[in-house]
Amino acid sequence: MRIYIFVDLDDTLFQTRRKAPPGTPLYPAALDRQGAPLSFMTPKQRALAELLLSRAYCIPTTARSYSAFRRTLLSFKGPAIIDFGGVILDDWGLQEPQWEGQMRPQLEQLKPQLQKFLGILEEIRLRRQLAVYTRLVSDFEMDLYLVTKQQDPQSKELEILYRELVPHFPHPDFYLHFNDNNLAIVPRCLEKKRAVKYMIDYLRQRWGEEILTIGFGDSRSDLGFMSCCDYALSPNNGQLMTLIREKFDV
Ligand SMILES: [Mg+2]
Repeated sequence: MRIYIFVDLDDTLFQTRRKAPPGTPLYPAALDRQGAPLSFMTPKQRALAELLLSRAYCIPTTARSYSAFRRTLLSFKGPAIIDFGGVILDDWGLQEPQWEGQMRPQLEQLKPQLQKFLGILEEIRLRRQLAVYTRLVSDFEMDLYLVTKQQDPQSKELEILYRELVPHFPHPDFYLHFNDNNLAIVPRCLEKKRAVKYMIDYLRQRWGEEILTIGFGDSRSDLGFMSCCDYALSPNNGQLMTLIREKFDV
């Protein structure tokens, strides 16, 4: 049976040096825009990645944009889900046209509201004098989502921003994603889960038989796509496993 692993990248297969366990040898896994190593794998992560890549089809399932995805050093072959599921790349690395046909009109409709949120973030930043910066992430000429980071990753400024934003949510068209140094305002139509479901259906049809699927992710926001798969896998030190341990008091 063909095995497909939908795998989140950041904080699942690798992380920045700051988040890596101290004193562990580190192997470069992704580069920054200047071409210098920015994210690293521990020996255990590397061993797991080698196992997965040698035994299964791994489909990256990431919030990374196309250019950030291209800066990862792992040798993924075949399709990929990027931009929180906004874009599916096909076997040749091109935007999958049927998925694009679904996503582009929905994102186009949400553009004015995305601009409004940009204004709200700027108002909060100025009023609370926060050392944070926001980026509108666009890819393939589609405006996708907003992501805010704090200049000092150790500071609590994003938490202040998060608390200010909470009254705007739940929102009918957008959700908040907050994990460590990332606070993102994401259209509801951008969901890894929807793209993974689409891919699973597509692959079943393509092969004309059942496939084994595994979802591998670290964040609460990965739980949706992990739940679409036959099995779920999560790093023990990640956000999701921490929440589960707290909930069940283990
Ligand atoms: Mg992650």
